[in-house]
Amino acid sequence: MLQQTRVAAVIPYYERFLARFPDAASLAAADEADLLALWSGLGYYSRARNLQRAAKAIVEQGGFPRDYLGIRALPGVGDYTAAAVGSIAFGLPYAVLDGNVLRVAARYWNDAGDIASQTTRARLREKVQAELPPKRAGDYNQAVMELGATVCLPRNPKCLLCPLEPDCEARSAGTAEKLPNKAPKTAVLKRIRCVLWVEKKAKVLMTNRDGFWELPDESQLPGAIHLEEIGIVRHAIMRTSYTISVIRARLARVPGENFRWIDRNALSSLPVSTIARKSLRLGDGGGS
Ligand code: SF4
Repeated sequence: MLQQTRVAAVIPYYERFLARFPDAASLAAADEADLLALWSGLGYYSRARNLQRAAKAIVEQGGFPRDYLGIRALPGVGDYTAAAVGSIAFGLPYAVLDGNVLRVAARYWNDAGDIASQTTRARLREKVQAELPPKRAGDYNQAVMELGATVCLPRNPKCLLCPLEPDCEARSAGTAEKLPNKAPKTAVLKRIRCVLWVEKKAKVLMTNRDGFWELPDESQLPGAIHLEEIGIVRHAIMRTSYTISVIRARLARVPGENFRWIDRNALSSLPVSTIARKSLRLGDGGGS
């Protein structure tokens, strides 16, 4: 849940999720619609699907894997998660490399390489790994991550308080504030869309895409009569920023079968996409 998402935003989702799925077996057996409904609003839904696939693998294997390769092979688990879980839960000697660790490492070894490049990451990973005390892998990983989060800050690093200060090469070279180097990101893609709010007796016309309910795009309802703009919704997914105009519309006949009239009160228990959730708030008189 914490991938790309702030801790404060995650906590209520985490608590609801654990109350509903307290172990791997209950998550593995869950209905996908229930799972996605509990995840609605957090975004990046592939995480929820991967979590369930991982739970199924854990149940099939008869328990959580205890070795690095077994953990790394679980769906949705990459190098970072495998090293973090392996070292903290099982003491496996694998260094983690997240944004905080990369910053500390780039400064500690005064490395001006672009930390977005695989070559720089591989070089720093090797150095961070070489420093790892095999018997205290979890403590080491948590200490370096915490140092990056609280002392070796992106701006104004607190070098005078830092235990690494005597050996820090960027500190002695006077380059700490300039590191790490990161090449500018590629431009954000901008997309403009128009979705339609068609309502009948407290029911809203919605369409299903990949398991999620959404307001229909204007292109799906060519016969609709546009009445007024209810508002604008803005939403960013990865490197794409969407500006969506929500239009109240009237429709003589629903085309095709991929649409359903859904009671507004039932929406909270269904998997609804984040864009649709924001649009529905507008339709209810709230802001985006
Ligand atoms: Fe970061 Fe300063 Fe510590 Fe070096 S001395 S690791 S730059 S906080």
